[in-house]
Amino acid sequence: MTFSSFSFEQILIPRKTLRAISVPLFAVLALLPLFSPQRPRSFLITDARVADGTGAPLYKANVRVALSHVVGIGELQPEKDEPTIDARGLVLAPGFIDIHNHSEDGLVKDPLAETQIAQGITTLIVGADGDSPWPIIAWLRSIEQTHTSLNVGTFAGHATIRELAMHKDYKRAAAPPEIRQMEQLLSQAMNQQALGLSSGLEYDVGSYSTTDELVALAKMAAENGGIYMTHIRDEADKSFDALKEEITIAERAHIPVEHSHIKLGTVGVQGKAAAYIKIIEDARKRGVDFLADCYPYDAWHADLKVLVPDKQYTNPESVAKALADVGGASHITIVEFSPNPSDAGHTLADLAKSAKISDVEMYIRLIREGDAANAEATIIGHSMTDSDIKAFYQQPWVMVASDGGVAALHPRGAGTFPRVLGLYVRERHWLTLPEAIRKMTSLPAQRLGWKDRGVIREGAFADLVIFNPDTIIDRSTYANPAALPTGVERVFVNGVLVWDAGKPTGERPGLDLGRGGHPIELLN
Ligand SMILES: [Zn+2]
Repeated sequence: MTFSSFSFEQILIPRKTLRAISVPLFAVLALLPLFSPQRPRSFLITDARVADGTGAPLYKANVRVALSHVVGIGELQPEKDEPTIDARGLVLAPGFIDIHNHSEDGLVKDPLAETQIAQGITTLIVGADGDSPWPIIAWLRSIEQTHTSLNVGTFAGHATIRELAMHKDYKRAAAPPEIRQMEQLLSQAMNQQALGLSSGLEYDVGSYSTTDELVALAKMAAENGGIYMTHIRDEADKSFDALKEEITIAERAHIPVEHSHIKLGTVGVQGKAAAYIKIIEDARKRGVDFLADCYPYDAWHADLKVLVPDKQYTNPESVAKALADVGGASHITIVEFSPNPSDAGHTLADLAKSAKISDVEMYIRLIREGDAANAEATIIGHSMTDSDIKAFYQQPWVMVASDGGVAALHPRGAGTFPRVLGLYVRERHWLTLPEAIRKMTSLPAQRLGWKDRGVIREGAFADLVIFNPDTIIDRSTYANPAALPTGVERVFVNGVLVWDAGKPTGERPGLDLGRGGHPIELLN
């Protein structure tokens, strides 16, 4: 395709839901800041090994980008005065789409999002685990005004909506009028281009919902072209029941489902990935549109209270069982504890030892001090196994997502994508390179129903990453979670270079994306 045959109608579909009157001109205006006169009209990436995102074998090609799109692939020669970028020895892939990212607040404070673009992420999706910005439109506007380096989209959070409908009285099943109110709120969010409904059923507000409530809301999301993304009710001993509930919701609501951060998180279920996968495979054979994501770490990061699933946080028996289930107090590291910040970085076992009390007593003390201070209290739990992680990653329906984000306190926030490419592809051979790239690009795009992102082809958006497959690796650690990875050479968002030779360029061409992956047009 030549540039001259490229029409704006083709690339920009304005969102009727957001505007009473939408014409392509308005949408074009929304993108105008990308087309400043200093930027070349087109450029050519030469001698790249292209991983096109589909999982197809790598092939050598030159790739031309004009404005925000890929416009040519093949044995192309540079035009007169056209800049070229030499990608010899490097892999060119679609930019990574992180479907589970917690940068809602981080992105507003840090719109360059260095830890994200340094990994090759070009689109991040927030509003996960039932918790989303609200109103969606106000947050999207604030992001638009902030000008971010990468694209963003958001889900509507079930807990966010549930709290709006039930206020502080949420520790019970919702009454029918409350469910109807939640449906109305969700419908409003869908009109504001939410990508679907997310839930976090292991967390306080969401955990009190019934399956019927979730089915009603998932139906509403489905009717509006959304999907259901869920942190299921239990990732510990009751993982299998929670998985079955998720599948029931998907079947009853006829909705595509994204299973967030698939894991088997306690001693009682560790090593059972094959049985877990079998249940999902059976559902997929029955026609359930089930995909999942997984982060490449054997440790989770969550609220202090998530540890005790029966919510008896000060009951010594419940706490003792919970600690045994994760393999003991040495597997729990305090990440933040605002009443006593110096607890951070220590294991629960270490804190108990220095206080000369039992592990159980130490946990209960943290709960009491934390509750009294309304504290920020989060922990990292090392309780998954590599063999389960490998089994999950080797399923064609499992994609890569970080569950991290800007300023994350877990190394997944700055390391996820390079870690999969360096550790799981190059060092351990769990995945081929094209398959790993597919899990970072076209698979999340497929989940979101996006056709023009997550692939390299003529007419697709030029969200691109150039990396060195021989050196790419994460460097973030539990002690230093923001350390940047190496091996990501260049990153382009909507055709604009945002990451170059180890540094951000300062450009911030990110767009708000709605359903379909189209830029949301917020003018007026
Ligand atoms: Zn979660």
